[in-house]
Amino acid sequence: MHEMGIILHLAKTMEDIAAEEGLTKIGSVTLEVGEVSGIMTDLFTDCWNYFAAKKDLIRGSELKLVTLPAVTFCENCKEEYETVKYGKICPFCGSKETYLVRGNECIIKEIEAE
Ligand SMILES: [Zn+2]
Repeated sequence: MHEMGIILHLAKTMEDIAAEEGLTKIGSVTLEVGEVSGIMTDLFTDCWNYFAAKKDLIRGSELKLVTLPAVTFCENCKEEYETVKYGKICPFCGSKETYLVRGNECIIKEIEAE
């Protein structure tokens, strides 16, 4: 499962941060998830809860998800537009010379100690 892999990775990152900052218990974690990251947020929360029941560091912690809108940039006319609405074809000039600027990320925004 894609989501589980990400959670495992996040848990590892949080353990590293907690060790660095001397935290023994995490109260909540805010995650920024890109609109086109492919992460199913419902599934993500389920995985988190499963994990939060097993690890002392994040036991009972709250996962807060913030969705980041996806933006695509057009090489041809140098405009930015909403990826989800228009896909890979620029709505301004019809060019396919476009690339994703943001919307594919999964970042730990904030960790609050309990
Ligand atoms: Zn364009």
